[in-house]
Amino acid sequence: MIPTAFATLPLKPSLLQNLTSLGYDKMTPIQAHSLPLILAGTDVIAQAKTGSGKTAAFGIGLLSRLVVPHFGVQGMVLCPTRELADQVSKELRRLARFIDNIKILTLCGGVPFGPQLGSLEHGAHIVVGTPGRMLDHLRRGTLELKSLRMLVLDEADRMLDMGFQDDLKTIIAAAPRNRQTLLFSATYPESIAAMSATVQSQPVTVKVEAVHDSQQIKQLFYLVEREKRTAALAQILGHYRAESTLVFCNTKKECQEVADTLKQRGFSALAIHGDLEQRERDQVLARFANKSVSILVATDVAARGIDIKELSAVINYELTRDPEVHIHRIGRTGRAGEQGLALSLVTDAERRRATAIEDALGETIVRVEVETLTMPSTATHEAPMVTLCIEGGRKNKMRPGDILGALTGEAGISGSVVGKINIFDFHTYVAIRRPSAKLALERLSANKIKGRFFKVRKF
Ligand code: AMP
Repeated sequence: MIPTAFATLPLKPSLLQNLTSLGYDKMTPIQAHSLPLILAGTDVIAQAKTGSGKTAAFGIGLLSRLVVPHFGVQGMVLCPTRELADQVSKELRRLARFIDNIKILTLCGGVPFGPQLGSLEHGAHIVVGTPGRMLDHLRRGTLELKSLRMLVLDEADRMLDMGFQDDLKTIIAAAPRNRQTLLFSATYPESIAAMSATVQSQPVTVKVEAVHDSQQIKQLFYLVEREKRTAALAQILGHYRAESTLVFCNTKKECQEVADTLKQRGFSALAIHGDLEQRERDQVLARFANKSVSILVATDVAARGIDIKELSAVINYELTRDPEVHIHRIGRTGRAGEQGLALSLVTDAERRRATAIEDALGETIVRVEVETLTMPSTATHEAPMVTLCIEGGRKNKMRPGDILGALTGEAGISGSVVGKINIFDFHTYVAIRRPSAKLALERLSANKIKGRFFKVRKF
């Protein structure tokens, strides 16, 4: 048996203490297998999916190697999407709470260069970002890698799928040879092996069971006729009425069509796919995460890197050709000890795909006729929360406390009806329990926040 106590690793006592304070009692399997190697300086290829604790695995490695008094970029994490980069930065900052004066910088596209330049000038220990923007900084000479000791490629398979191969090559060529390189990937196609061979040195592969604990995820196949697919989806959604459901489609066009149809049928649904602008993406994700939208219809690429905790159900509108992608999709539900639901619509033409998935999982999945589902006739499909958008954000020095203060102070609204607050550069989203949303909108519009009035509207 491989030890699972963090205390068995050569880690600083302050880091160990912080892990305990974060509630990380023992290592997850990917951590237990990879951390001894990572801490010994070995290059590692880790096959791990989101939710496995992979961020902490490379994060603990990165933090253990830092020479804090030296303000040069010593660690770099490359991610396929901005959402994943934000998530990784967040987790690194939580892990780094025990170190004073550590700077972790997120460098992604879709946001202005200016503030990033300023932050880089002040020096950073770790940079996390997407390949395109990293490359821009390298070309402009605003990012310098001569002190780099550890490079992490996170979701490397997806970065290759998204066409970042050349960018990655150029970035890596600018890094010192004498570095440690960690490659994290959910799948291990040929292209990853080839990539590893050019950027890693004597790597050791670590693989933990890709298959989920079937106790954790209740999986069902719903047999449907092709033309009745959308009606079947509505029936399933109406029957389960899950708080947050991610619906996967194979194409962008279908995503939009499915979301539009669901909306017409009274469901709270939005689509997310590669054609959305960054601001729209941020908005959609924030509204889904704060429970003011219950259903998100996504393509695989758009859903990558979305870290929505408490995702109650995943529905496959169509089965994927690749069983690994299916396993990845359904792994988004049933995290953190909760039982998840993974429901797939299966048409006659998809039977082969269904069997391939069962083979990959090594289990039989129960097939159900959609007609067996009951749907309460009086069902309302409204999401429990409503998002209010305040036309002021980080640039106005807005902080969550300012908004809570404006709502709960004189306005007399209970803090318990206020949900997530997401602050962006120029605007802020606040989730409010539906019955209190109208009052909150009135109060936020009528009261000053940070000494001035802001425009507020409801989605
Ligand atoms: P990741 O796979 O990096 O997306 O991590 C999934 C979640 O697991 C994150 O919310 C982490 O904060 C959490 N996590 C990571 N390592 C541990 C651990 N050893 N014990 C408990 N939770 C953890």
